[in-house]
Amino acid sequence: MRLVLIGCPGAGKGTQAKVISKHFGLAHISTGDLLRNEIAQKTELGLKITHIMESGKLVSDEIVSELLMKRVKEDDCKNGYILDGYPRNVAQADNLEKTLGNMDKVIYIQVEDGIIIERMSGRRGCPKCGQMYHEKYNPPKKAGICNECGTQLVQRKDDVEETVKHRLEVYHNETSPIIEYYDKKHILYKVNGVGDIDKISAEIIGVLESFNK
Ligand code: AMP
Repeated sequence: MRLVLIGCPGAGKGTQAKVISKHFGLAHISTGDLLRNEIAQKTELGLKITHIMESGKLVSDEIVSELLMKRVKEDDCKNGYILDGYPRNVAQADNLEKTLGNMDKVIYIQVEDGIIIERMSGRRGCPKCGQMYHEKYNPPKKAGICNECGTQLVQRKDDVEETVKHRLEVYHNETSPIIEYYDKKHILYKVNGVGDIDKISAEIIGVLESFNK
């Protein structure tokens, strides 16, 4: 099964992608993580994109698409994958279809802007294993420490309020047109992304299981 997750920054794509990928045995591909990995490794590309990412702008289609194409060739993608953060605009959606064909299902996690800022300012992540938490809604067992690997949690620079507002603007201008794009292809499923995380996961898994039969 090949899936796409759409939603504004902070909608819960990463959190849900982790649960869904584990449930169905799919690879979880976050283009944001692929880019952050380049920065962490201090590669030439990483140095070039650091400022763009910290400012909340989109990295060029060519760079992201190239990283994605390399990633989907890896062994763990043979059984399928879930794309989290790609496509981010219509050009990327066209490129995806041209290079990898049609996706099976696109899950759109809906959350209103008002809720996003509070959500994101409380968001903390593990720099080692990538597990995400929220200080209020999904806290780690021990404050500031990753449940999975015991590493000190950090706030992403692009989760700072001003940058979040800019990322929402970029989302509405550039990413939201892909909702209609996939709706027209009749592969879009909309889920309310506000509420209990486990219930949202259960709804998405239920939809995908009935589709996968
Ligand atoms: P994310 O972790 O998905 O919120 O992505 C964090 C940042 O990575 C974004 O604000 C962009 O700067 C960059 N990024 C991630 N995915 C893409 C993409 N598909 N196209 C362009 N930039 C991206």
